[in-house]
Amino acid sequence: MKSIVWLRNDLRLLDNPALWHACNASEEVVALYLITEDQWKSHGDAICKINFWLKNLSSLQNSLAELNIPLKILEAEVYKNCPEVISKYCKEKNISNVYLNLEYPINELNRDREVYKTIKENGIGVHTYHDQVIHEPGSLKTGAGNNFSVYSPFKRKWFELLKDEMLDLFPIPKQKNKTDEKSSDLSALIDKYDNPICSNWEIGEIKVQQNISKFLKSKGSSYKDDRNFPGMDGCSKISPYLNAGIISAKWCLVEAAKNNNGDLAEGDKGIVHWVSEILWREFYRHIIYNFPKVSKNKPFLDYTDKMVWSDNRVFFEAWKKGRTGIPIVDAGIREMLSTGWMHNRTRMIVAMFLSKNLLIDWRWGEEFFMNNLIDGDIASNNGGWQWSASTGTDAAPYFRIMNPMTQSERFDSEGKYIRTWIPELKNCPTKDIHLPPNPESYDYVDPIVDLKESRQNAIKAFENLKN
Ligand SMILES: Cc1cc2nc3c(=O)[nH]c(=O)nc-3n(C[C@H](O)[C@H](O)[C@H](O)COP(=O)(O)OP(=O)(O)OC[C@H]3O[C@@H](n4cnc5c(N)ncnc54)[C@H](O)[C@@H]3O)c2cc1C
Repeated sequence: MKSIVWLRNDLRLLDNPALWHACNASEEVVALYLITEDQWKSHGDAICKINFWLKNLSSLQNSLAELNIPLKILEAEVYKNCPEVISKYCKEKNISNVYLNLEYPINELNRDREVYKTIKENGIGVHTYHDQVIHEPGSLKTGAGNNFSVYSPFKRKWFELLKDEMLDLFPIPKQKNKTDEKSSDLSALIDKYDNPICSNWEIGEIKVQQNISKFLKSKGSSYKDDRNFPGMDGCSKISPYLNAGIISAKWCLVEAAKNNNGDLAEGDKGIVHWVSEILWREFYRHIIYNFPKVSKNKPFLDYTDKMVWSDNRVFFEAWKKGRTGIPIVDAGIREMLSTGWMHNRTRMIVAMFLSKNLLIDWRWGEEFFMNNLIDGDIASNNGGWQWSASTGTDAAPYFRIMNPMTQSERFDSEGKYIRTWIPELKNCPTKDIHLPPNPESYDYVDPIVDLKESRQNAIKAFENLKN
């Protein structure tokens, strides 16, 4: 019996349920990857992220070859074509079963429903798995039977319903029989999406596992404090790998427990906090599944849909270029433009600055992040933006607006992060670096808004909306 495993954001051997089940049930297995370039474009996926996917896919291709599993690349252009492309391939190659791990954003869910229907109609088996979360979206309910929209009770329920076997990893499959199918050549595609940012990120499953184990051992205990300081190397930087599925969230939790006497909820404060961040990721996956409106450009809090956002393109361009005149904001944006990644503290600061101080639609910022992040992820990005704009689940209350200058003084007190990303301010004395009094003398710019006044305007706009 011949099967395919359709790979998407699950580019790994270890703890890959679809791959494991396909291998367990079939004599021959082919891995399939569909190139959907027009869909990537319409989703605004960053070039560095696509390059990162393809390079990791190529690394996985080598590992799969050792298991006698060829990796076949097919062109589908957009999701709409996926059912036809897959069923045609299945017919041509006499495939009996298709295995896949599910994704939760609305377009991906709709694509998978259509693929499921078409393949079933052709008499081929389809087997789906949840590899991105521990508890399936929709399976955790409040006492009143509703879906959670607040993180803390979600997390409590998550632990309450956790069973040991839910953390069992799917092992790397055993070698299969050889197939006649040849692996596709990925090099032209990788060249097409070549991007210098990607070369700063290590490629491949084994390397990443080693890096995370090292992080947990050497920095896990201090994570709770150090994670707040953008100038420190205090967080794991695994988001691109988790989102492309180079490692699974489950593997991360198991590794965290190994470094904390087998516990996830109690013990080492740093590691327990790191676990809680992985659970934020899972929370936002449940949110996009349970409340599909958030993947349709809608705010979670309906009343905020009436907000009249500013359409000041000049301010938006300044924000996008890292030229707002607020150093910590500009440093965050420039970090992302240079590396494809931004520290969580500065993600919150720049998002609040855009949506509150500039009162610009959070969706503009959400899209710009997706266009540039190597870890751009629909669920976490939407969750983070709606949190910052006070339109989302468990969001920051509209009157609690981070002051970027105070944040800068507190979390980058010596200006190390600012100096790294804004070379113009390299020689600015520390006492001035958070808001230089004479920015022109450093070839830097004046602040585009007054922080106090713009904060008051934002509060007023939200109060008007409430009334
Ligand atoms: C406006 C905004 C946009 C964001 N966009 C994205 C995005 O597109 N992709 C993305 O992966 N994360 C996003 N985040 C969440 C967070 O900033 C990143 O996950 C984190 O900075 C990644 O760095 P790390 O791997 O070192 O995280 P660590 O601090 O080491 O945490 C480990 C993992 O936990 C998860 N995690 C941590 N914080 C959060 C969080 N607040 N929300 C959800 N998951 C979290 C991530 O998977 C992360 O890799 C966004 C946050 C904000 C405020």
